[in-house]
Parts: sequence; C-alpha cells; structure tokens
Amino acid sequence: MNESGCDLLCLCPHSDDAEIALGGTLRLLADRGRRVWVADLTRGELASNADPAERWREAAAASAVLGLAGRVQLALPDGFLEPADRTQIAAVVWLIRQLRPRWLVTAPEARRHPDHLATPALARRAAFLARLRALTPAVPEARWWPGPRSSEAAATWRVETVGETCPEGTEPSLIVDVSATWEAKREALACYASQFQRDPLRQPTDINDPDFLARIDARGRAWGRRAGVAWGEALRLDGVPVVADLPPERWA
Ligand SMILES: [Zn+2]
Repeated sequence: MNESGCDLLCLCPHSDDAEIALGGTLRLLADRGRRVWVADLTRGELASNADPAERWREAAAASAVLGLAGRVQLALPDGFLEPADRTQIAAVVWLIRQLRPRWLVTAPEARRHPDHLATPALARRAAFLARLRALTPAVPEARWWPGPRSSEAAATWRVETVGETCPEGTEPSLIVDVSATWEAKREALACYASQFQRDPLRQPTDINDPDFLARIDARGRAWGRRAGVAWGEALRLDGVPVVADLPPERWA
C-alpha cells in the first residue's frame, strides 16, 4: 500500500465550514509540520451571497492563512449531498485515495443544513469503501489550491481515524488547545467577507449576523474552559486511541 499523503483531511460541504469548525486546529497542526488538507465537497452555488468563483478566491486566501498543504473543491451538488448516492460516494472514495489521509474529520456544524447532516455519513461510507479494490471510481471534477495535482490515486486506502467536531453539550474524545492559533482562525474567517460581513448589497443570512462570529468565539471559549486553556476545539472520534505509553498531553 502507498504511503500516507496527508496527516489530516477536513472534509466539509462548503468553503468556510472547515475554518468555522476547526480553523485553530488546522493551523496548529500545520505549524507543527503536519500535512493538513481541506476538501470542500461543493462549490457553494446555492449560497445567498457570492458566486462560486468569489468563494473559491476567499477559500484560497483562507487556506494560505491556515498554512494548508492544499485544498480541493469537488463539484457535488450544493444543497443535495446524499450519502446513498453512488456518484457522490465514488467521488469521495476517489478523493480519499488521491490524498491518502491518516485522519479524516468532518464538521457537521449547523445540523439543520441538509448538507451538514449528509456529510459525516457520506465520509464514513466512502472511508470504508476506499479500502475495497474492486471499486474503481471515475475521476470527478475538482479544482485545487495552490495548484493542480497530477498524482495517481491509490488503488485502495485505509483511513486510520475518522471523526467529527463534537456537538455542544456532548462529551468530546479530545479537545485541541488552540490558544496559540485562535487569532489565525479569526483571520481565516475574515477572508470570507462575502459570507460573514453584512452590508446593504448582501442578503442577510444567519452567518452574516453580527452575532455569528461572537458565537464561534463563545464556543471556542467554552471548549477551552472545559480543558483549562484559553481556546479549544473539540472532536469526537470513531474508536478509541491506542497507546503504548502514557500520552504526552494531559487529561482534562
Ligand atoms: Zn456549510
């Protein structure tokens, strides 16, 4: 089997989801020399504000702020992600085999959005099917940051750990201390002016409500408090960590 091509892949429906959910973690891992990738499953063509070209420019700027190794955007149908759709599953299988991540995490924030409900199931299904050699998906439409990618997808790939952001009020598997990178997360979010800045030319939405960024801060503070640090982001993992020694970090 081929070597891993990335340490962590954050798979989300839309540009800006990864930054909202795990921007601090992505930058922290990148600062530690990890190869961190974000995959946007859709181009966000149903967004109330900004067209896909503008959103992709914003995503590229945010990717640079977070120090990502790369970002890929598929062209699955915004608003219609469906974990039982063979074409969509095949596209994500291909993506997993192309990037060969050790960890695969999703961010089902905003659970009332159907794409956010669909993505964890789609990701888990694809992570399983990516192991099966008999499945040979076609190459889906994709665009890449910082540049095109020409490498061959692996014939099979086994993701080591699958997880998702932890819903508030439930017990996380781990909390990442993102105190050192919270400012970078804010900076990455600021790249998405079309989504988060309310002005008279844009439609009012939940996420350009002035309270939205304050709510992200409140959640970061709450997870941080839970861990005894200033800022935190929380993950819930499938399975348990396996260790052969006491882990270097502490329990909270
Ligand atoms: Zn979204």
